[in-house]
Amino acid sequence: MKRNGSERLFLRAQKFIPGGVNSPVRAFKAVGGTPVFIQIADGSWLMDVDGNTFIDYVASWGPLIFGHAHPQIIEAVQIQAERGTSYGAPIEAEIGLAEKVVYAVPSIEKVRMVNSGTEAVMSAIRLARGATGREKIVKFEGCYHGHGDSLLVKAGSGLASLGIPDCPGIVADLAAKTLTLPYNDAEKVRQLFDREGKEVACLIVEPVAGNMGVVPPKPGFLQTLREVTRSAGALLIFDEVITGFRVALGGAQELYGIDPDLTCLGKIIGGGLPVGAYGGKSHLMDQVSPSGSVYQAGTLSGNPLAMAAGNTTLDMLSQPGLYDLLDRKTEILCEGLRNNVQELGIPAQFNRVGSMFSMFFTDREVIDFESVKTSDTELFKRYFNALLEEGVYIAPSPFEAGFVSVVHTDQDIERTIEASKRALKKAKE
Ligand SMILES: *Cc1c(COP(=O)(O)O)cnc(C)c1O
Repeated sequence: MKRNGSERLFLRAQKFIPGGVNSPVRAFKAVGGTPVFIQIADGSWLMDVDGNTFIDYVASWGPLIFGHAHPQIIEAVQIQAERGTSYGAPIEAEIGLAEKVVYAVPSIEKVRMVNSGTEAVMSAIRLARGATGREKIVKFEGCYHGHGDSLLVKAGSGLASLGIPDCPGIVADLAAKTLTLPYNDAEKVRQLFDREGKEVACLIVEPVAGNMGVVPPKPGFLQTLREVTRSAGALLIFDEVITGFRVALGGAQELYGIDPDLTCLGKIIGGGLPVGAYGGKSHLMDQVSPSGSVYQAGTLSGNPLAMAAGNTTLDMLSQPGLYDLLDRKTEILCEGLRNNVQELGIPAQFNRVGSMFSMFFTDREVIDFESVKTSDTELFKRYFNALLEEGVYIAPSPFEAGFVSVVHTDQDIERTIEASKRALKKAKE
């Protein structure tokens, strides 16, 4: 596989951009080698600057549920661009997107648009602290909630891939307010809330963890979170930045029937443009400025281009049968991958919820960050690089989710299964 173009660009990028990338997860540090610089993408396909093509399961880390450059989304953005890209004044499309979110996501009564998932979570945490008058927050090991100061404690995603336990630059007094627990351990949650539940402003969780690879909640885990927070007077925040519009139109809260106080959204809601959102019960959201005193603002929030992409995406997502289709496609893919590892005698675990999935190279059941870390990272490294050579692009880390989109064809999936088998054979040697 030719890589000269990417290598040249990466050298140039490193001179002017820290590590050569604008987000650490793109840097291929966990798998070695040079990140692939993209030239163009269409549907389920990416092409790099060297002319190599890949079937894409990264989907820009989750947003692209309709694949790259979907004609309807592109058209909506183009029409808006000609009318202006930003006004700093309200437009009707903001109401349209808010209405769609409120109708789709069961617990959300009011919603505020921001520009990223990070911003959504930071704002929701501030609101939780403001509304409860408490300071402590509870999160789970291996969950990632963006790079806000309070949340970079035992976080997943890039920190897990790069092995960064705690991030320098976070004020110790603030980090001390963040309590962490193992994912899926309901008993530990109960103990913590028995001890200090009355000091807790909120508990934040990825209702299906997606940033240490996919780790579904055990039956009853999310219910426990709802019960203990409610009885302690703490807020339950679902970080549905990945799962929102991904596992169901109404997100994981619809799938598992849980009613959180606040919900954070991102990724799919922007249809491939930068959008985040946080929403929840009216009595809480009305405490956000200007109706309340918890301040939060944004020059480009509710940006017209992003609203156009978001509105179009959510409209398209309401087609009946769409989530069943995604579920079926992803099951076929995972079944093929499972057969491959069985045939080759490679110990591996598969976790999947709807169209988000992970394969972990371990013989242990993967239920939390401890078990995630038992996976064979060296084998993954070889597998990743062999798979890239075969024309399949997955996240360059053993601790990330894969995403199937509506536009992945049966042929894409078949080719992926075959490519994966060849890559596994090579990686095993
Ligand atoms: C991606 C992600 C974020 C951060 O969103 P950005 O848009 O990258 O700031 C927060 N929470 C979860 C669960 C995510 O997956």
